Amino acid sequence: MGKFIPLSVPNFEGNERKYVDDAIDQGWVSTGGAYITELEKKLAEFLQTQNVAACQSGTSALHLSLVEAGVKPGDTVLVPPLTFIAAVNPVKYQFATPVFIDCDDSFCLDPVKLRRFCEEECSFEPAGSPAGGSEESPAGGSEEPAGGLLRHNGSVVKAIVVVHVFGNMADMEAIMDIAAQYNLKVIEDATEALGTKYTTGRYAGKYAGTIGDFGAYSFNGNKIITTGGGGAVTARDPKVVDHIRFLSTQAKTDPHYYIHDEVGYNYRMTNLQAALGVAQMEELPEFIRRKQRNFEQYREEFQSFDLAKLVPFREGIESNKWFYSLDIDRSRVTASMREIITSLQEEGIQTRAIWGLINEQRPYENEETYKLEKAPYYAERILNIPSSTQITPEEITYVADKVKQLLRSLANG
Ligand SMILES: *Cc1c(COP(=O)(O)O)cnc(C)c1O
Repeated sequence: MGKFIPLSVPNFEGNERKYVDDAIDQGWVSTGGAYITELEKKLAEFLQTQNVAACQSGTSALHLSLVEAGVKPGDTVLVPPLTFIAAVNPVKYQFATPVFIDCDDSFCLDPVKLRRFCEEECSFEPAGSPAGGSEESPAGGSEEPAGGLLRHNGSVVKAIVVVHVFGNMADMEAIMDIAAQYNLKVIEDATEALGTKYTTGRYAGKYAGTIGDFGAYSFNGNKIITTGGGGAVTARDPKVVDHIRFLSTQAKTDPHYYIHDEVGYNYRMTNLQAALGVAQMEELPEFIRRKQRNFEQYREEFQSFDLAKLVPFREGIESNKWFYSLDIDRSRVTASMREIITSLQEEGIQTRAIWGLINEQRPYENEETYKLEKAPYYAERILNIPSSTQITPEEITYVADKVKQLLRSLANG
C-alpha cells in the first residue's frame, strides 16, 4: 500500500526528548516536580488566566470541575449529545442526572434550545423566594440558594457542560446570559479547543475555557498538544483552582502528617507527562498556524465540490482548527460511513465518522433528551479527515482527490 495518511498523530519536533530525559535524570517522575508547575505557568500565560491546575486527563479535569461546582447526587446537569462520551461520564461519577440538549450548526450547544428548556421544562425560584429556601429537594439534590434555584422535575439543575467541538467555539455570549439568569455553573469542555479565542464581541481576546466558571483541557495523544495522557483545569476564581489542585493530590491538609479533611483524588499530572507538555507548549503557536493553513487548503480543495462541504468554524473567533469535518450530502450519497471509511483506508487514508450520539449509548439510553434534531442529523453526515500538523500540501491534495473520487463513484443522480 505504501502511503498512509493518519487522521491525527502527535508531533514531537521540539524539545520533548530533552525535557523528558531531564525529568528522568532528576528522578522526578511522579506527581511532584518542577515541570508540572512550569507547565501550569505556561498554560496560564498562554490562556491569560490566573491559575491552572495540571491533571492526569481531560476527564479528571472535568470531574474535578463538577465536584467543585457542587454537583451532587440527584442534581441535573445539561450536556451535549454529539461529542466524545468523556464530556458526560463525570456527571455519572457524581451520581447526577444528565439531560441532553441539542447542538446547533457549530455542533456545539444550541443556546436557543437551552433557553427554551430552562423556560418551559423547568421552574425557577429566585433567591429569597419562599420556595427557594434551603429545604432538601425531592430528588435529594443539594441546594445553593444564593442566586436562585432552577428545578427540573424537582431536581436542581446545577450546571451546563459546554463542549467546544473540534476546536470551534460555542455561542458563549448567549450561553453565559442564560446561565446568569438561571444561576447555573458553566463548565467549558475545551479539551479540543486549546488556543481557540474570540476576536470580536463581549469576549474578544478570551480563550475557550476561560469564559465560564470552569475550563477543562486535554493533552491526550490526538489533541493539539499531548502529554501522552493529561489535562488541565482553570476556573474564573483562582482560589477554586487551588482547591482543585488540592483535591487532585489526595487532599492532604498538613505538610508533615497524613491529615485529610476531604475526600481527595489521585488526579495530578506526573512530572514526566509535564516535561512532554512544556516542550509541546513551546510549539503550540506553530501547531495552530499549521492547522489553520491546512484547513485553508482543504477549504480550497472542496470549494466547488457538490457532494460534500468542509464545515466552517464560527465567525468572530480564531479557532485552533484542530479537527476537520466534511458534511456529506446524504440525499445523493447514501453509502454507510463504514463503507466510506473502509474504501478510504484502502487508499491509505485514515478517516472517521463523527461520534455516535451519547444518548444512544447503553449507559445513557434511558436518559432524557430535549429536542434533538441537529445532533442526529449531523451524526449521519460528518466524516473527519486527516488533520495532523505534519500533513504535507501534497497529501492534502491526495486526500481531497481520493475523497471526491470515492463520493462521486457512490453518488446517485
Ligand atoms: C478528549 C476529550 C475528552 C477527554 O480527555 P481525556 O484527556 O482523554 O480524558 C473530553 N471531552 C472531549 C470533547 C474530548 O474530545
